[in-house]
Amino acid sequence: MLGTGEATQSPVATLSVALVALGPLLVAAVTLDRMAVQNKLHEALEYDSLTGTLSRAAFLRRSQRRLNTLVDGSQPVALLMLDLDDFKTINDTMGHAAGDIALVRSAGCILSALPHGAVAGRIGGEEFAVLLPMADHEDATAVADTIRRDHERLHLLSTRTATVSIGLAWAPAAPASVSPLLDTADRALYDAKRGGRNTVVAVTLA
Ligand code: GH3
Ligand code: MG
Ligand code: MG
Repeated sequence: MLGTGEATQSPVATLSVALVALGPLLVAAVTLDRMAVQNKLHEALEYDSLTGTLSRAAFLRRSQRRLNTLVDGSQPVALLMLDLDDFKTINDTMGHAAGDIALVRSAGCILSALPHGAVAGRIGGEEFAVLLPMADHEDATAVADTIRRDHERLHLLSTRTATVSIGLAWAPAAPASVSPLLDTADRALYDAKRGGRNTVVAVTLA
Protein backbone atom coordinates (compact mmCIF):
# COMPACT_ATOMS: atom_id res chain seq x y z
CA MET A 1 0.00 0.00 0.00
CA LEU A 2 1.34 3.44 -0.96
CA GLY A 3 1.75 6.31 1.41
CA THR A 4 2.80 4.29 4.44
CA GLY A 5 6.24 5.82 4.46
CA GLU A 6 8.02 2.54 3.49
CA ALA A 7 10.81 2.91 0.91
CA THR A 8 9.90 1.41 -2.47
CA GLN A 9 12.36 0.34 -5.20
CA SER A 10 11.85 0.84 -8.91
CA PRO A 11 11.70 -2.37 -11.02
CA VAL A 12 14.88 -1.30 -12.85
CA ALA A 13 16.77 -1.01 -9.58
CA THR A 14 15.48 -4.40 -8.43
CA LEU A 15 16.60 -5.97 -11.70
CA SER A 16 20.05 -4.39 -11.39
CA VAL A 17 20.48 -5.77 -7.90
CA ALA A 18 19.40 -9.22 -9.07
CA LEU A 19 21.85 -9.14 -11.98
CA VAL A 20 24.71 -8.07 -9.74
CA ALA A 21 23.90 -10.94 -7.40
CA LEU A 22 23.46 -13.47 -10.20
CA GLY A 23 26.57 -12.44 -12.13
CA PRO A 24 29.10 -14.34 -10.04
CA LEU A 25 26.79 -17.36 -9.90
CA LEU A 26 26.51 -17.40 -13.69
CA VAL A 27 30.26 -17.09 -14.08
CA ALA A 28 30.75 -19.94 -11.60
CA ALA A 29 28.23 -22.11 -13.45
CA VAL A 30 29.91 -21.48 -16.81
CA THR A 31 33.35 -22.17 -15.32
CA LEU A 32 32.15 -25.42 -13.73
CA ASP A 33 30.58 -26.45 -17.03
CA ARG A 34 33.80 -25.76 -18.89
CA MET A 35 35.80 -27.70 -16.28
CA ALA A 36 33.42 -30.66 -16.60
CA VAL A 37 33.88 -30.66 -20.38
CA GLN A 38 37.66 -30.40 -19.98
CA ASN A 39 37.64 -33.28 -17.48
CA LYS A 40 35.59 -35.41 -19.85
CA LEU A 41 37.95 -34.63 -22.73
CA HIS A 42 40.98 -35.43 -20.58
CA GLU A 43 39.40 -38.71 -19.50
CA ALA A 44 38.60 -39.64 -23.10
CA LEU A 45 42.20 -39.03 -24.12
CA GLU A 46 43.78 -40.79 -21.13
CA TYR A 47 41.56 -43.83 -20.73
CA ASP A 48 40.18 -46.58 -22.93
CA SER A 49 36.42 -46.22 -22.64
CA LEU A 50 35.72 -49.98 -22.73
CA THR A 51 38.16 -51.30 -20.15
CA GLY A 52 39.04 -48.25 -18.07
CA THR A 53 42.76 -48.93 -18.51
CA LEU A 54 45.01 -46.23 -19.97
CA SER A 55 44.79 -45.52 -23.69
CA ARG A 56 47.79 -46.51 -25.79
CA ALA A 57 49.13 -42.94 -25.99
CA ALA A 58 48.67 -42.34 -22.26
CA PHE A 59 50.32 -45.67 -21.42
CA LEU A 60 53.37 -44.84 -23.52
CA ARG A 61 53.59 -41.31 -22.15
CA ARG A 62 53.24 -42.33 -18.51
CA SER A 63 55.61 -45.30 -18.88
CA GLN A 64 58.28 -43.10 -20.40
CA ARG A 65 57.79 -40.52 -17.65
CA ARG A 66 58.12 -43.24 -14.99
CA LEU A 67 61.19 -44.71 -16.69
CA ASN A 68 62.88 -41.32 -16.55
CA THR A 69 62.69 -41.47 -12.77
CA LEU A 70 64.29 -44.94 -12.67
CA VAL A 71 67.21 -44.44 -15.05
CA ASP A 72 69.48 -42.41 -12.77
CA GLY A 73 69.14 -44.80 -9.86
CA SER A 74 69.71 -47.84 -12.11
CA GLN A 75 66.48 -49.35 -10.83
CA PRO A 76 65.06 -52.55 -12.36
CA VAL A 77 61.92 -52.49 -14.47
CA ALA A 78 59.68 -54.97 -16.28
CA LEU A 79 57.24 -54.58 -19.12
CA LEU A 80 54.55 -57.15 -19.88
CA MET A 81 52.81 -57.41 -23.22
CA LEU A 82 49.59 -59.41 -22.98
CA ASP A 83 47.41 -60.70 -25.81
CA LEU A 84 44.23 -62.72 -25.45
CA ASP A 85 44.41 -66.09 -27.16
CA ASP A 86 42.21 -66.99 -30.12
CA PHE A 87 40.12 -63.95 -29.41
CA LYS A 88 38.76 -63.84 -32.92
CA THR A 89 36.99 -67.14 -32.31
CA ILE A 90 35.36 -65.69 -29.16
CA ASN A 91 33.91 -62.93 -31.31
CA ASP A 92 33.02 -65.33 -34.10
CA THR A 93 31.31 -67.92 -31.93
CA MET A 94 29.85 -65.82 -29.13
CA GLY A 95 29.39 -62.44 -30.74
CA HIS A 96 31.15 -59.11 -30.54
CA ALA A 97 29.30 -58.07 -27.37
CA ALA A 98 30.60 -61.17 -25.58
CA GLY A 99 34.06 -60.29 -26.89
CA ASP A 100 33.71 -56.86 -25.33
CA ILE A 101 32.70 -58.41 -22.00
CA ALA A 102 35.74 -60.69 -22.20
CA LEU A 103 37.94 -57.63 -22.70
CA VAL A 104 36.45 -55.89 -19.68
CA ARG A 105 36.92 -58.97 -17.51
CA SER A 106 40.42 -59.51 -18.80
CA ALA A 107 41.29 -55.93 -17.86
CA GLY A 108 39.82 -56.56 -14.40
CA CYS A 109 41.98 -59.66 -14.06
CA ILE A 110 45.09 -57.73 -15.04
CA LEU A 111 44.42 -54.72 -12.81
CA SER A 112 43.67 -56.82 -9.76
CA ALA A 113 47.03 -58.62 -10.04
CA LEU A 114 49.11 -55.46 -10.20
CA PRO A 115 51.15 -53.97 -7.38
CA HIS A 116 50.80 -50.31 -6.44
CA GLY A 117 52.62 -48.07 -8.92
CA ALA A 118 52.19 -50.31 -11.96
CA VAL A 119 51.09 -48.65 -15.21
CA ALA A 120 48.54 -50.55 -17.34
CA GLY A 121 47.08 -49.72 -20.73
CA ARG A 122 45.15 -51.18 -23.62
CA ILE A 123 47.55 -50.79 -26.48
CA GLY A 124 45.63 -52.59 -29.21
CA GLY A 125 42.37 -54.44 -29.85
CA GLU A 126 42.90 -57.36 -27.45
CA GLU A 127 46.36 -56.39 -26.31
CA PHE A 128 47.34 -54.84 -23.00
CA ALA A 129 50.70 -53.69 -21.66
CA VAL A 130 51.90 -53.25 -18.10
CA LEU A 131 54.95 -51.45 -16.75
CA LEU A 132 56.23 -52.71 -13.42
CA PRO A 133 58.64 -50.11 -12.03
CA MET A 134 61.32 -51.43 -9.65
CA ALA A 135 60.15 -55.04 -9.99
CA ASP A 136 62.84 -57.65 -9.60
CA HIS A 137 62.73 -60.61 -11.97
CA GLU A 138 60.95 -62.85 -9.48
CA ASP A 139 58.24 -60.27 -8.74
CA ALA A 140 57.63 -59.61 -12.43
CA THR A 141 57.29 -63.28 -13.35
CA ALA A 142 55.00 -63.84 -10.34
CA VAL A 143 52.68 -61.04 -11.54
CA ALA A 144 52.66 -62.45 -15.09
CA ASP A 145 51.94 -65.98 -13.83
CA THR A 146 49.10 -64.75 -11.64
CA ILE A 147 47.50 -62.95 -14.57
CA ARG A 148 47.90 -65.98 -16.82
CA ARG A 149 46.43 -68.36 -14.22
CA ASP A 150 43.53 -66.00 -13.42
CA HIS A 151 42.64 -65.90 -17.10
CA GLU A 152 42.34 -69.70 -17.12
CA ARG A 153 39.55 -69.27 -14.59
CA LEU A 154 37.91 -66.45 -16.52
CA HIS A 155 34.87 -68.34 -17.75
CA LEU A 156 32.77 -66.87 -20.51
CA LEU A 157 29.19 -68.14 -20.63
CA SER A 158 30.42 -71.15 -18.61
CA THR A 159 31.58 -72.98 -21.72
CA ARG A 160 34.63 -71.10 -22.73
CA THR A 161 37.70 -69.56 -21.05
CA ALA A 162 39.76 -66.69 -22.34
CA THR A 163 43.43 -67.53 -21.95
CA VAL A 164 46.24 -65.04 -22.38
CA SER A 165 49.79 -65.15 -23.70
CA ILE A 166 52.35 -62.88 -22.10
CA GLY A 167 55.73 -61.56 -23.21
CA LEU A 168 57.83 -60.24 -20.35
CA ALA A 169 60.83 -57.97 -20.81
CA TRP A 170 62.91 -57.39 -17.70
CA ALA A 171 65.87 -55.06 -17.30
CA PRO A 172 68.08 -55.03 -14.19
CA ALA A 173 68.71 -51.33 -14.87
CA ALA A 174 65.99 -49.31 -16.55
CA PRO A 175 66.81 -48.25 -20.12
CA ALA A 176 66.43 -44.59 -21.07
CA SER A 177 63.61 -45.33 -23.50
CA VAL A 178 60.57 -47.54 -23.27
CA SER A 179 61.16 -48.72 -26.87
CA PRO A 180 63.59 -51.59 -26.19
CA LEU A 181 61.28 -52.88 -23.46
CA LEU A 182 58.32 -52.81 -25.86
CA ASP A 183 60.29 -54.49 -28.67
CA THR A 184 61.63 -57.22 -26.38
CA ALA A 185 58.23 -57.89 -24.77
CA ASP A 186 56.65 -57.99 -28.22
CA ARG A 187 59.14 -60.61 -29.43
CA ALA A 188 58.66 -62.62 -26.24
CA LEU A 189 54.90 -62.48 -26.78
CA TYR A 190 55.37 -63.78 -30.30
CA ASP A 191 57.39 -66.70 -28.89
CA ALA A 192 54.65 -67.35 -26.31
CA LYS A 193 52.11 -67.60 -29.14
CA ARG A 194 54.35 -69.89 -31.15
CA GLY A 195 54.96 -71.99 -28.05
CA GLY A 196 51.27 -72.88 -27.87
CA ARG A 197 49.63 -69.84 -26.14
CA ASN A 198 48.45 -69.59 -22.50
CA THR A 199 52.06 -69.14 -21.47
CA VAL A 200 54.59 -66.58 -20.26
CA VAL A 201 57.92 -66.06 -22.03
CA ALA A 202 60.41 -63.89 -20.14
CA VAL A 203 63.48 -62.24 -21.67
CA THR A 204 66.15 -60.25 -19.84
CA LEU A 205 67.53 -57.17 -21.58
CA ALA A 206 71.31 -57.10 -21.75
P1 GH3 B 1 46.04 -65.03 -31.27
O1 GH3 B 1 45.87 -66.12 -30.27
O2 GH3 B 1 47.12 -65.35 -32.26
O3 GH3 B 1 46.26 -63.71 -30.63
O4 GH3 B 1 44.70 -64.98 -32.12
P2 GH3 B 1 43.55 -63.89 -32.01
O5 GH3 B 1 42.32 -64.49 -32.61
O6 GH3 B 1 43.42 -63.40 -30.62
O7 GH3 B 1 44.14 -62.71 -32.86
P3 GH3 B 1 43.58 -61.98 -34.13
O8 GH3 B 1 44.53 -60.84 -34.36
O9 GH3 B 1 43.39 -62.94 -35.25
O10 GH3 B 1 42.16 -61.43 -33.70
C1 GH3 B 1 42.01 -60.39 -32.83
C2 GH3 B 1 40.55 -60.08 -32.80
O11 GH3 B 1 40.26 -59.08 -31.81
C3 GH3 B 1 40.02 -59.53 -34.10
C4 GH3 B 1 39.23 -58.31 -33.72
O12 GH3 B 1 37.98 -58.30 -34.33
C5 GH3 B 1 39.07 -58.44 -32.22
N1 GH3 B 1 38.91 -57.17 -31.54
C6 GH3 B 1 39.74 -56.10 -31.55
N2 GH3 B 1 39.25 -55.11 -30.80
C7 GH3 B 1 38.05 -55.55 -30.30
C8 GH3 B 1 37.06 -54.96 -29.45
O13 GH3 B 1 37.16 -53.81 -28.98
N3 GH3 B 1 35.97 -55.72 -29.15
C9 GH3 B 1 35.83 -56.99 -29.63
N4 GH3 B 1 34.75 -57.68 -29.28
N5 GH3 B 1 36.73 -57.54 -30.44
C10 GH3 B 1 37.84 -56.84 -30.77
MG1 MG C 1 44.99 -62.40 -29.64
MG1 MG D 1 46.55 -59.26 -30.95
